[in-house]
Amino acid sequence: LKLNNNDIVTLKSLGAGNSGTVSKILHVPTQKIMAKKIIHIDLKTVIKTQIIRELRILHECQSPYIIEFYGAFVNNNNTIVICMEYCNCSSLDKISQLCDGRQFPLYLLKKVAYAILSGLTYLYTAHKIIHRDIKPSNVLMTHKGEFKLCDFGVSRELTNSLAMADTFVGTSTYMSPERIQGLNYGVKSDVWSMGLMLVELASGSPVWSEDDDADKSLAGNGGPEGILDLLQRIVNETPPTLTNRTNPLTKGPFDPSLCAFIDSCLIKNDSVRKSPWDLLQEENGFISGVAEGVYDKDVKSWAKKIRKLHKDKTEGEK
Ligand code: ADP
Ligand code: MG
Repeated sequence: LKLNNNDIVTLKSLGAGNSGTVSKILHVPTQKIMAKKIIHIDLKTVIKTQIIRELRILHECQSPYIIEFYGAFVNNNNTIVICMEYCNCSSLDKISQLCDGRQFPLYLLKKVAYAILSGLTYLYTAHKIIHRDIKPSNVLMTHKGEFKLCDFGVSRELTNSLAMADTFVGTSTYMSPERIQGLNYGVKSDVWSMGLMLVELASGSPVWSEDDDADKSLAGNGGPEGILDLLQRIVNETPPTLTNRTNPLTKGPFDPSLCAFIDSCLIKNDSVRKSPWDLLQEENGFISGVAEGVYDKDVKSWAKKIRKLHKDKTEGEK
């Protein structure tokens, strides 16, 4: 599919990240609804053209756990444009704002973890791709309660530029210790990020923002010093956990299998940490039953509810 701006009608804005904006569009020739991401990074035109070439491999990534890619091009005003499958329930960061206490129910966390591990396993085994940017805003939901990954690092150049942009505005707190230290990192680095994300979605608050000074400066205007402190803490401190913490919603402990699962994702030493496929194959663990559809009914009705809340909210904004 040859995409260009003349064939595109913008319908509405879906959100903005550190390096770009995403909108819902109609591709007129095919009458297809898509999500269009515009990336503003300052790079030489040759490098942008190379990025577009590297992105072509995305055409081959086909999995129920991965957002479909339609095409990419360099726009006249020298921005990179990526067109992909549109997900009508948006991303987990926005969805969590619609949940009681910003906390996801347990069956949902199971489903999300299963989908992420399946997506990571697919990307790595089929294409040798490491995601590199697992975080709530990069996991999208459909109205059927399916979860899909987007924004993974297929282009070295793009990944590096974006990681730089993100680091200094303080959103790269999902980064694994080995990656922060500049060591070799692999797919297990994504497992760390997923673990952090699950702590956040289960507890209702981001992991690295509780009771500490380093983060006050982050919350302020996020200067590089605050970020460097924070990165250092990720490397030096004992990893976050839900074990022995009180669930603010139930006032009781968190589910033990959830705690154990998260603890295994947040092992600092990546040679001991499990890979996505190891975690998928664990028996009697946190995600067992998901593949068999045990939670599908709950997830579907939950997704329906969220879809409605989401619709009400976006209509209210008009
Ligand atoms: P970030 O992921 O850092 O939030 P992005 O620029 O990647 O920044 O995305 C901005 C927002 O656009 C996301 O938070 C998400 O809610 C929304 N979004 C991204 N891709 C899609 C998509 N394919 N379908 C629907 N919404 C999307
Ligand atoms: Mg994103």
